[in-house]
Amino acid sequence: MFVVKDLVVDMTNFYNQYKSVEPWLKRKSPAPAGKEFVQSKKDRAKLDGMYECILCACCSTSCPSYWWNPESYLGPAALLHANRWIMDSRDEYTKERLDAVNDEFKLYRCHTIMNCARACPKGLNPGKQIQNIKVAFGSRNVM
Ligand code: SF4
Repeated sequence: MFVVKDLVVDMTNFYNQYKSVEPWLKRKSPAPAGKEFVQSKKDRAKLDGMYECILCACCSTSCPSYWWNPESYLGPAALLHANRWIMDSRDEYTKERLDAVNDEFKLYRCHTIMNCARACPKGLNPGKQIQNIKVAFGSRNVM
């Protein structure tokens, strides 16, 4: 983190990276008759391990790759949230979301050091979610 003074840090870059993954539901078609978008229990379960994130930034600040490239590598927290929306069955921008993070620095600076999983106070595993994004590229390429 960029230090302001003592233990006070400027989290503007962290929040801008979170914002850059557009962490909200995006649709191309409207809700049926103005009702909510339904989701099966099975699809809802795919969000477990991601929706619980409290954006404390412990994962990103414990990541050596983030230390070296804090402005170009999105970091574990933002990428976990990117995957949270990639995996959401109600979202219709999966391809665009994948394309948005398909970048040598934004995504591929993760070298699976896994400090993120050790640091998370919620017991989440951002490194695993980053791996899931990379796997999603693979499955899309074979389709
Ligand atoms: Fe979210 Fe855990 Fe990272 Fe905190 S350490 S931002 S709770 S994934």
